[in-house]
Amino acid sequence: MSANQHNIGPHMAANEAAKVALTRFASESTLASQLPVKLKNGFEVEELSTVCPRCKQDICPENTRGTISTAFAGILMFDAHGFCRQCMLCVPFCGRVKPHGTNFELETIKQGKWVRYNVELPWTLRAWRFVRDQWRKIAGHAR
Ligand SMILES: [Zn+2]
Repeated sequence: MSANQHNIGPHMAANEAAKVALTRFASESTLASQLPVKLKNGFEVEELSTVCPRCKQDICPENTRGTISTAFAGILMFDAHGFCRQCMLCVPFCGRVKPHGTNFELETIKQGKWVRYNVELPWTLRAWRFVRDQWRKIAGHAR
């Protein structure tokens, strides 16, 4: 193995990934500025946020930035990062929200695989924030 190859270890790759994540975070807009989005069934996604895997605290919407796409009819796709100021950690946060009955289903990547979660809510509870605890469980186990 040459000296050059020696430098390209998992540690370097992680640093590079963190740099890319931070660069993206700095240039992208908050998800909050791109919401709400109404799904085909009328369900309104008002808020998308995640939790810090290290300190388990909520990452506030102002520190959740990325892109939201509704290019596929009725499906909201998000590709974002949350930034925990306390841990100085940039947390990848991506997935899709699809209409499911009068509610929605969430698909996210967990250990390299797409995982689907069905979330059943009374029709009156339309806001994403009511399922934040659910999301906390998902995100908390993501790593
Ligand atoms: Zn944290």
